[in-house]
Formats: sequence, C-alpha cells, structure tokens
Amino acid sequence: MEKHQIYFELLDALKERGCPICFLINSRVHKLMENLLYENVNDIEIRKKIKESLGFCNLHSWQLKKFADGLGLSIIYEDLLNVIKNKIKEFLGKKGKKVEIGLNCLICREAKNIERRFISLFIEYFNDIEFKNNFKSSFGLCLPHFISVIKSCKDKNVIVELYRIETEKIELLRHELNEFQRKQDYRFSAEGYGKEKDSWIRAIEKLTGKEGVF
Ligand SMILES: [Zn+2]
Ligand SMILES: [Zn+2]
Repeated sequence: MEKHQIYFELLDALKERGCPICFLINSRVHKLMENLLYENVNDIEIRKKIKESLGFCNLHSWQLKKFADGLGLSIIYEDLLNVIKNKIKEFLGKKGKKVEIGLNCLICREAKNIERRFISLFIEYFNDIEFKNNFKSSFGLCLPHFISVIKSCKDKNVIVELYRIETEKIELLRHELNEFQRKQDYRFSAEGYGKEKDSWIRAIEKLTGKEGVF
C-alpha cells in the first residue's frame, strides 16, 4: 500500500494522548481558524460563505476569539452585523412575517468533513501492520468515534478486532480507576500514584471524546 502524508498524520495522532480522531479534528480545526483569520479574511469568496452561514456557533466563535486577532474578527463581524441588520429590516418590512435566520456554522461543517475523512482513512489503514501496532498501544478511540468507525466499516474482521482491542482498553482503564480509588484510602496513600493518576480524566475522554469536538 502506498503511504501518503495523511497516513503519517494519522499514525502520529496515535502517539498523542487520547482519541486520535478527536485529536486530528482539533488540530485541523485549529489550522483552519488560523488560516481564516490570517490569510482568508480578505478573500471575497470566503467572506461570502461566512455571511451566508450567518457566522459561527458559540463554541467556534469563542475559539476564534482566543486567537486575539481583533482586526480579522472585526472585519468578519462587521460583515455579519450588516447581514443581521438587513435580516431585521426584512422582518420589519414583512410586518412580522417569518424571515429565516438560521445559523449554519462553517467550522462545524468543515469539522464534520474532517471527521468523515479520518474515519474512512482509519478503516482503510487498519490492516497495515505498523498502523495496527501503534493503535494497539494507543489510547484507542473515544466511544462516539468507535461507534462511527464500526458503523462505517464493512469488513467483519476489522470490526471484531476493534471490539476486542477496545474491550481490553476499557478493562485496563476500569482497573486503573479502581487502583486510583484504592490509593485515595489513607492506608495506601504512601504508595504514591502511578499512571492511574489521571485515569478519571481519560475515562471522561473515553466516553465522550475530547472537549468541544461534539
Ligand atoms: Zn474521538
Ligand atoms: Zn461551529
């Protein structure tokens, strides 16, 4: 199998903490927002798309704010305020009749595309030995991405193997939680914490994915 750059991107994501698909969505979305602010803010087509979608959802608006690019955002938001002002005008003109104001966040849509792409690549590369070995020693998938992968996968053997690997990972994590609880007891606290220290945080990620991905 010819290995593309994207294969290595996915492989690297397996070495990161937590769900690799969540990680890739976050890092791609971060890059997307960076490009939007620093390169595309003067791109007429992109500005048009942003206006048509009426801006960004709450999560992505506040993530954009963290880039602290006042100029870029002031340009985008001036556009958006104009659109909203005209919508209100339209509403008044129609004497209160229905005017569509439906937000369709551009970044959410792009994040969905990124997610779909990596889910299908994950399935495509799963039988590659290097890939599989790295997956076996990784965090595994978060539950929402595990379900999405299973739903999109047509290969029975891959599904069975994924079930097996994820069951082992869940059992290991469950054991770590147990160990964490045991060490909370003053009689054992002198033992000090090992890698179970943050098991309760990893358990949250296991069940729901990374913060802000869903
Ligand atoms: Zn995930
Ligand atoms: Zn969004």
